[in-house]
Amino acid sequence: MLTSGYHVVTMSPAAFKPMHPPAARENLSVAEAETEIARCMPGLPVERVALDAAAGRILREAVNANRDQPAFDRVTMDGIAFAFEDWQQGIVEFPIAGIQAAGRPPLSRTQPGHCFEVMTGAVLPRDCDCVAPVEEVILANGVARLAPGANPRRMQYVHRRGSDYVDGARLLEPGMLLRGPELAVLASAGRTQVSVASQPRIAIITTGDELVAVDAAIEEHEVRRSNDRAMAAALRLRGITQVDRAHVPDNPERLRQAIGELLEDHSVLILSGGVSMGKFDHVPQALADLGVAVIFHKVRQRPGKPMWFGIGGGGQVVFALPGNPVSSLVCLHRFVLPALEAAAGAKPAVRLTVRLARQVEFEPALTWFLPVRIERNLVEAQAEPVFTNTSGDFARLAGSDGFVELPAVQQRFAAGYAAPLYCW
Ligand code: AMP
Ligand code: MG
Repeated sequence: MLTSGYHVVTMSPAAFKPMHPPAARENLSVAEAETEIARCMPGLPVERVALDAAAGRILREAVNANRDQPAFDRVTMDGIAFAFEDWQQGIVEFPIAGIQAAGRPPLSRTQPGHCFEVMTGAVLPRDCDCVAPVEEVILANGVARLAPGANPRRMQYVHRRGSDYVDGARLLEPGMLLRGPELAVLASAGRTQVSVASQPRIAIITTGDELVAVDAAIEEHEVRRSNDRAMAAALRLRGITQVDRAHVPDNPERLRQAIGELLEDHSVLILSGGVSMGKFDHVPQALADLGVAVIFHKVRQRPGKPMWFGIGGGGQVVFALPGNPVSSLVCLHRFVLPALEAAAGAKPAVRLTVRLARQVEFEPALTWFLPVRIERNLVEAQAEPVFTNTSGDFARLAGSDGFVELPAVQQRFAAGYAAPLYCW
């Protein structure tokens, strides 16, 4: 699924070196799991991309202005330009000496008391320091007359040279997400190429004997696999496109072989399923056999308790998420996506806090990730809980906006309780 348009610097897994020796831990809190991932997550190298391929990427250089903005005194209204002093001395009728169009070098006034017709975006003609808009001007027989009541000010309707920024000013900082406004700034600075974080090569690996492809014939006891599609979509929506998908049955040998091959040319593996306590949950053992060192197994959270995280011999980052569709998606959004953003050198995302629309209760001493729908027709955004029918009920997530994180230390969360929102 390589996307054209990107110049991809292929990263050998060896470029991914864990920063600290791993030490396996069990039953971590969400915060501890996050810290462990951050500790192990290597930074992504920088690559140069064409401007056309830069949208959605993370900037990895500072960008400075190479000219003033605007680079000239810019007329902001269609109208006439004249010398303010002439008007002060009582002149209201100005013979038109010419037309100053956008994109033309500045004209010079040859006679006092004359004006130029000027167009939006044109350079202010020399010796002129005032613009009157067409609405305040009567044009007839080569003469422009200021309408009665017109009361011009010096330099009105002129966007002054360097008033937005001056040559050399810092325009963009490393870590910024390149969206429309940032692309506009890059283009105006004459940048055809830009340094951004390279994309990791990611493999999404689903496991499970019961799972069949979207287009395959299906028996009653089988399930169409959907986690890979959900996760690939989430990655894609965040601009991550170097994503391959693979499926492996619950067979230790097949798992070892398939994961082993994918470890060779991917720097991030995201597995779904096979990490719980079932007789056919072979993923942790297969990863151990392949020399992937476990950093932690199990997080005190619901959904997603059996989550497993480790580092491969070549520094590959391996997230093994529980297969229940709600669990895998929540874990992806809560741990994997933020880790990938951090690896890209992105400025930490502004996390919105939303207020619960109603009281909810949750007894286990676990962090609770509660799916929500944001009610938008209220003055204040409110999070309406979307209760799934077990963490297998992915259908109810459709149309929800994400989930809120409710801490393990509390059981009752009153209406109005403020919680961080993770958006799909
Ligand atoms: P597991 O974590 O392997 O025990 O799977 C837990 C549940 O999630 C089982 O009911 C699986 O059928 C289901 N499941 C696992 N992987 C997927 C997938 N890729 N798509 C849909 N359902 C899945
Ligand atoms: Mg399974």
